[in-house]
Amino acid sequence: MDTLQQSAQYIKGVGPARFEVLNRLGIYTVGDLLNYFPRRYEDRRNFAPLGRLEVGKYATVKAEVLKTSLRRSKKGLSIFQVVVGDDTGVLAAAWFNQPFMKRYFKAGQELILYGKVERFRSLQMNSPEFEFVSAKDACLHMGRIVPVYPLTSKINQRYLRTIISRAERNYCSCSPDMLPYTLRTKLGLLPLTLALRSIHFPQDFTARDSAYRRLVFDEFFLFQLILALKKSRRGEGQKGIAHKKEGRLIERFQKALPFKLTSAQDKAIKEIAGDMASSRPMNRLLQGDVGSGKTIVAASALVLSVQSGFQAALMTPTEILAEQHYLFLSKLLMPLDINVGLLIGSMSRQVKLNTLEDICSGELDIVVGTHALIEESIHFKQLGLVVVDEQHKFGILQRSLLRKKGQSPDYLVLSATPIPRTLAMTVYGDLDISTIKEMPGGRLPISTFRVKERAAGDVYKFIREEITKGRQAYIVYPLIKDSAGSELKAASQMYGRLKEKEFHELRLELIHGQMDGRDKDKIMRSFKNHKIDILISTTVIEVGIDVPNASVMVVEHAQRFGLSQLHQLRGRIGRGPYPSYCILVAEPETAPAKQRIEAMLNIQDGFRLAEEDLDIRGPGQFFGPAQHGLPELKLGNILKDMELMELARSEAFSLVGKDPKLRSPQHLSIRKRLKQRFHGANIGLLSV
Ligand code: ADP
Ligand code: MG
Repeated sequence: MDTLQQSAQYIKGVGPARFEVLNRLGIYTVGDLLNYFPRRYEDRRNFAPLGRLEVGKYATVKAEVLKTSLRRSKKGLSIFQVVVGDDTGVLAAAWFNQPFMKRYFKAGQELILYGKVERFRSLQMNSPEFEFVSAKDACLHMGRIVPVYPLTSKINQRYLRTIISRAERNYCSCSPDMLPYTLRTKLGLLPLTLALRSIHFPQDFTARDSAYRRLVFDEFFLFQLILALKKSRRGEGQKGIAHKKEGRLIERFQKALPFKLTSAQDKAIKEIAGDMASSRPMNRLLQGDVGSGKTIVAASALVLSVQSGFQAALMTPTEILAEQHYLFLSKLLMPLDINVGLLIGSMSRQVKLNTLEDICSGELDIVVGTHALIEESIHFKQLGLVVVDEQHKFGILQRSLLRKKGQSPDYLVLSATPIPRTLAMTVYGDLDISTIKEMPGGRLPISTFRVKERAAGDVYKFIREEITKGRQAYIVYPLIKDSAGSELKAASQMYGRLKEKEFHELRLELIHGQMDGRDKDKIMRSFKNHKIDILISTTVIEVGIDVPNASVMVVEHAQRFGLSQLHQLRGRIGRGPYPSYCILVAEPETAPAKQRIEAMLNIQDGFRLAEEDLDIRGPGQFFGPAQHGLPELKLGNILKDMELMELARSEAFSLVGKDPKLRSPQHLSIRKRLKQRFHGANIGLLSV
């Protein structure tokens, strides 16, 4: 067996009980110990003279034990105290309710202490870390740059540091370096053994940085290799559908377009058509800001599929959005004799059954629906294209279930969370990417304001003015998760009040997530048809809803919304030829909330906002665990270490380009590491 795969119990000091505690940290093997990285470091190389200690600060001191004492406090607490001194002064160290500490200390011993300096009767450290200078491993915890590890209860730094150091001494050299020598030296990376040694016990911070660089490279490299392998495997063995690019139907569609396409839309449509015409299955992401016009691009793809005699499915995260797309597509495509159907959970049983039949028989060419589309009972006659709108709202599993309804159908996902290209390539891994950066012409910029809650009166007055001009408005209240129903209360209470008082002669409606799908549909429709002036809502309108006549978006308690949510909400207006206004009623208290509101006021561009959001939240939060294919990163930071990620990416892709199956002897250990790192999940890729 691989030495590093041996149980951590092989390390001296790890018995069954400790082993179980280590398991909680994800440590099972010797290798896990070596790969359990410090959270931070403490520079304990320089000892502070006792005479110059500062109260409230952490310090490392080296001193001699002058005397020890064990006494009881008035409350019955046992206090063990050691007084130490050096040439410049004295310091006390105290431990509470640990009378056994007495055993360890004797006058005359030299020791090193690390802790926070406090002032009692004299200067004192409470329960400091300590180390006798004469002890064998004195150099481990003190007088050096010391690693500080993430802990769990029942384990302390000293212990963890000790056993990791033992693992490092006895096993580090057993770590096989997966990087071929030539590659490693070309990139100026440390040998693995040295990197592992220095990440735990660095000589200096430069050594630590080099170690970090090497280990993060490995982490990113493995991840990018998976992507590269996936991409090179794509289409291999599974033959996709070669759709016809040209034809009567697509020509008629192009003539029927309700507007002139932007050149970015045009380009995206061509890229997609190119993919669809190839016999490799398409795997493409279309990203563009809210309102950039992704739907029509998707529509063009749907038509291509129908033209070649296949069915196409478009999946959306909400019923309202499904209905909107359904209406839009029906209007556009019915005249071309394309049958468009709708499938959502709230449809009546009978209608649903009929739709199922029509999907199965091939009567329906295009089906728009929510995740109702992935239910087991749905069978397509011949599914040629799958489009997923607002893809980040779905999990990986849901998306792949829809794809499995066909035989290697072409696949297109739409995202309104535009992110920088390199990051997109990484996060969306093996997808090809089309980006729409340009907005359809004729749009006026949206003015964004922030007002305080007490200015509500002015806000209402402003809304009224817009409505007098013939426009419509949204007022959105936050979803409050912790107390069920309160979200409703806020929106519905305000609805009641505004309808009675401020806007008594206007047409108001309330829409929220817990309403019946059909009721929501009805209200959205009347809003779209201008039968409603003001829509009071929770975030159900967040994604995709399109009402060009609406010119005001008021977001109440805006500090509670995420940045992308706010941006999405703002994207609901400014879709017509009128000036529009986004009013954030906000009382931000936390720093991130302030940053979000600030960003909304200063930035319109979705790409830049996304970067800002990433910065505020960090990538893990930004993407959410289910939505991205990123493995959990132990060490690297996808944002800070972008340059390393790019390096890893280009090396990984070039390696797979040369050796697509990682067969060559010098790549065997890479292959092995991949198997270890991604057991199960992606290993299908590597099966021999
Ligand atoms: P999103 O990218 O947010 O999904 P949509 O596809 O909903 O955007 O488009 C937003 C609005 O812009 C819709 O009303 C749509 O009809 C309109 N639109 C899209 N493309 C154009 C264009 N090239 N010219 C004018 N209006 C357009
Ligand atoms: Mg959309």
